Amino acid sequence: MAETYLQFVPVDPAYQPSLAALEEARELLESILPQAREVTAGNYPGIQFFDSGQEWEYPTCPHCGAGSEDWFQHAMEHAWNESEGAYHDLSITTPCCNSNILLSQLHFPGGDRFASFLLEASSPWGDTTPAQDLQLETILGSKLIKKLVAR
Ligand SMILES: [Zn+2]
Repeated sequence: MAETYLQFVPVDPAYQPSLAALEEARELLESILPQAREVTAGNYPGIQFFDSGQEWEYPTCPHCGAGSEDWFQHAMEHAWNESEGAYHDLSITTPCCNSNILLSQLHFPGGDRFASFLLEASSPWGDTTPAQDLQLETILGSKLIKKLVAR
């Protein structure tokens, strides 16, 4: 059976909270979900890609709706900086309609995300309420995207 992860990332892929805020948010989430197997929070060396788990689908262009099967993988490899272990530049020009956008602005049907920090509860055995989500956003100083991922 797949394990589930309740994940929170900021809406801004480059945003990173202070370590104190991360720890405060981690402790709050742990108290909300006491049965979770593990609650972790951390900043990454830079922007990472967090997939949506089992149901991967190629993203589509936010402007014309075209698929990205032919170029998404290449664009991701091009944006990746091996020595930094992070995506260094998300800007692309879409081959379908020549739009200058960020990879993070593509429409990901499964809910894949780019982010520099992750707050995560493994096997959460529960969910947060909208009020609790707001509390986490206040602590972390950013609007958050919440997603339950199974893998
Ligand atoms: Zn397009």
